[in-house]
Formats: sequence, C-alpha cells, structure tokens
Amino acid sequence: MVSNPRIAIVGAGLGGLMLARMLYLKNVPFLIFERDESVSQRPQGGMLDLHVETGQYALRLGGLFETFEQLARYEDQGLRLFDQHGTLLLEKADAASGDRPEIDRGQLRELLLESIPDDTLRWSHTLREAERQDDGYTELHFDNGLKQRFELVVGADGAWSKVRALVSATQPAFSGLTLHELSIPDADARYPEVSQRVGRGMLIAKGKRQTIFAQRNANAHIRVYAALHRQTNPQATKTKADLLHEFKDWDASLLQLLHVADEPVRPWPVHVLPIGHRWERRDGVTLLGDAAHLMPPAGEGANLALRDAVDLADALLDDQDWKAAVRAHERVMFERAALAAAEADRMMMVDSVDENLELMKQHLGAEA
Ligand SMILES: Cc1cc2nc3c(=O)[nH]c(=O)nc-3n(C[C@H](O)[C@H](O)[C@H](O)COP(=O)(O)OP(=O)(O)OC[C@H]3O[C@@H](n4cnc5c(N)ncnc54)[C@H](O)[C@@H]3O)c2cc1C
Repeated sequence: MVSNPRIAIVGAGLGGLMLARMLYLKNVPFLIFERDESVSQRPQGGMLDLHVETGQYALRLGGLFETFEQLARYEDQGLRLFDQHGTLLLEKADAASGDRPEIDRGQLRELLLESIPDDTLRWSHTLREAERQDDGYTELHFDNGLKQRFELVVGADGAWSKVRALVSATQPAFSGLTLHELSIPDADARYPEVSQRVGRGMLIAKGKRQTIFAQRNANAHIRVYAALHRQTNPQATKTKADLLHEFKDWDASLLQLLHVADEPVRPWPVHVLPIGHRWERRDGVTLLGDAAHLMPPAGEGANLALRDAVDLADALLDDQDWKAAVRAHERVMFERAALAAAEADRMMMVDSVDENLELMKQHLGAEA
C-alpha cells in the first residue's frame, strides 16, 4: 500500500481483532469499533479447534502461536460419534494426537485483545449505519452519536453486520436448525460418569432431525448443545423439560447429558447466508468472517474469519494497487467460504440418519 487508507474495522470478534493485530504489526493505522462495553460483557460460547491452514496459520503470521500453545488443549482432541441408541460408531482413540488443538473462544479473544494497543479499540460503539459518500469515503454513524469518515471500512461485525448493506442486499435466513446450549460445570467432580462418556473432547450423537453435541471446555466444564433440525420458528424457546420430551426416544445414557445440565437453556437459532454469497466490487468497503459468509456451525466459521483477516491484511499491504489486491483476496475468500458452507450445510441439514452418520464418519474420520 503506497499511502495508508484511514481504516475502520467494525467488530472486535475473532476476525476483526486478527486483522487489527496484523495491521498493528505492520504499523498501519486503524481504529476498531465494538458494540460490547467490555471484554467481559457477554459469555463467548464454547471451545474451538483451530485448523492448520486457517486458524493456526493466522496465529502464526500474527506472532501469536506460542501464546496460543500455552492455552491450547492438545489433550482434548478426542471425539466419539454415537447414534441415538447409544451405540458408539466412531472413536478417536488417542485424544492427544492430532493437529487441531482446542481453545475456549473467550481465551482466544482475550489473547487477540492483548495483542493490540488499548487505544486502537473503541468499546461501546454500536454501528447504526454506514453511509457511502461522493468522494469514495464511508461515514460511520454510531449509536452514541459519533460520526466518523474512513477511506476503508471493514465489516467484521458478524452475522447481523450493518456494514454488509453497503455491498449486498442479502440478509441471513433462518436455517431451520436451533441449538440449545446447556452447561455442566465441574463435571469431573460432580458427574464423573457423564464426564467419562464425553471423554477428552467432543461427543456427537445423531438421530433423525436431532443431534446432541457435548464438548469439554477448560476447567472440566462441559457444554451440551441439543440440536433440533427443520424447525419453523426461530423464536421458539425451550426449557430442559421440553428438550427431554423432544428427545424422549433416545437412550438414557445420552439423555443423562440433559438431565444433569444446569438451566437456563440458551437458544442459538442458526441463521445463514446463501452458499456462495458474494458481492460486486466496491472499493473502500469489504467484509470478513460471518459478515461475509455466515454458515451453519460445523467447525469452520471462526477458522475462516481468522484466515480472512490475515489475507485481507496482506492485500492491504500491497505496494502496487491495494484496491485490486483486496478484490483478488475477496475472490479467493468467496471460493474458500462457498466450499466450507456447502460442507457445513450437508453436515447439518441432511435428513436421513444413515446418510448423516456416513457424512459425519467421513468428516470425523478425516480429522481423526
Ligand atoms: C453455537 C456455535 C458454535 C460454533 N462453533 C464453532 C467451532 O467449533 N469452530 C468454528 O470455527 N466456528 C464455530 N462457530 C462459528 C464462529 O463462532 C463464527 O464463525 C466466528 O465467531 C465468526 O467470527 P467473526 O469475527 O466474523 O464474528 P463474531 O465473532 O460474531 O464477532 C463480531 C463482533 O462484532 C460485534 N458487532 C456486531 N454488530 C456490531 C455493530 N453494529 N457495531 C459494532 N460492533 C458490532 C460483536 O459484538 C462481535 O464482537 C460457532 C458458532 C456458533 C453459533
């Protein structure tokens, strides 16, 4: 990049922070605006496994891999696949082998936050609207009354991105899948049998249009997701009793995960952008992560957001023509995300139990 554009990153999630880190390393000035009031305003959800080509690649480029390794749980890469009758179909025997270490999302976000100067991040700045101006700049309007103009705006503001409207009229649609999150804190001490069943990593159990995921987080905290597919109402709330009723045909060994979990149930209605979502060239605005390619949660979203961020930073540093470089980067991002979204869709949306189990086996077998 010959002269640095005035860069705004909207959203201090994983993707936005990774981009901030890369720009900071290269002495490119930027500001990052975040809706949350502070790092601890809301729980960040469960664990992530970082993949070599995407999440890990990004952390290496950002000089953060060693810090990541101090937090990463290589020992929690196990997985077990069951059917709803409690039959074990696939098991990764050695949970410590493999190259997809786990980290809690909150830990990863804090690691990234600590890697950029405090004065580059504006908490409590909720973007209300982004407005294109005749000179190619974009004016950002925040809920707190601030208005500020930038030469380049990066929408890293997640599923319900406000920046997206500048490049695309497409809105996320409800996928029909709702995950219901429950927690089992201190599972090793309180429920050793449940803890052993989940093992060192992830348990997945599949039935017709129903799935139970259970994952081991740091400090023996187990998160359980009871997934209902083909729902019509994203707003429908469920209690633990409702879920036990929905899953009443399941084996008792799996239902125990719901029985012992704490309330409340936290619903995650899964919304998606169309597979292959893209936009025409629009200099001065781009998107990354969920803002660009929201897809069902099949283990790629955070990884892709991190990879998008380092690739975008690379394009912005292009000495010749950063606008063309950003466009070239977007084309690669579109293709990468379309493949991942198609795979995630197949994994999460197939109705046939046998077909779904086969897909899972292929996917998990490739990882194991
Ligand atoms: C239940 C669940 C499980 C998942 N599991 C995995 C997994 O195992 N592996 C994986 O790779 N991915 C997983 N994902 C997907 C992953 O969480 C996302 O793909 C990833 O967080 C996207 O990162 P991002 O930076 O694009 O967006 P986000 O992480 O959503 O960050 C967006 C940021 O923008 C801020 N923001 C939003 N609107 C505004 C606004 N108007 N103004 C200012 N700031 C704003 C938000 O507060 C947030 O901090 C899962 C998702 C869900 C729902």
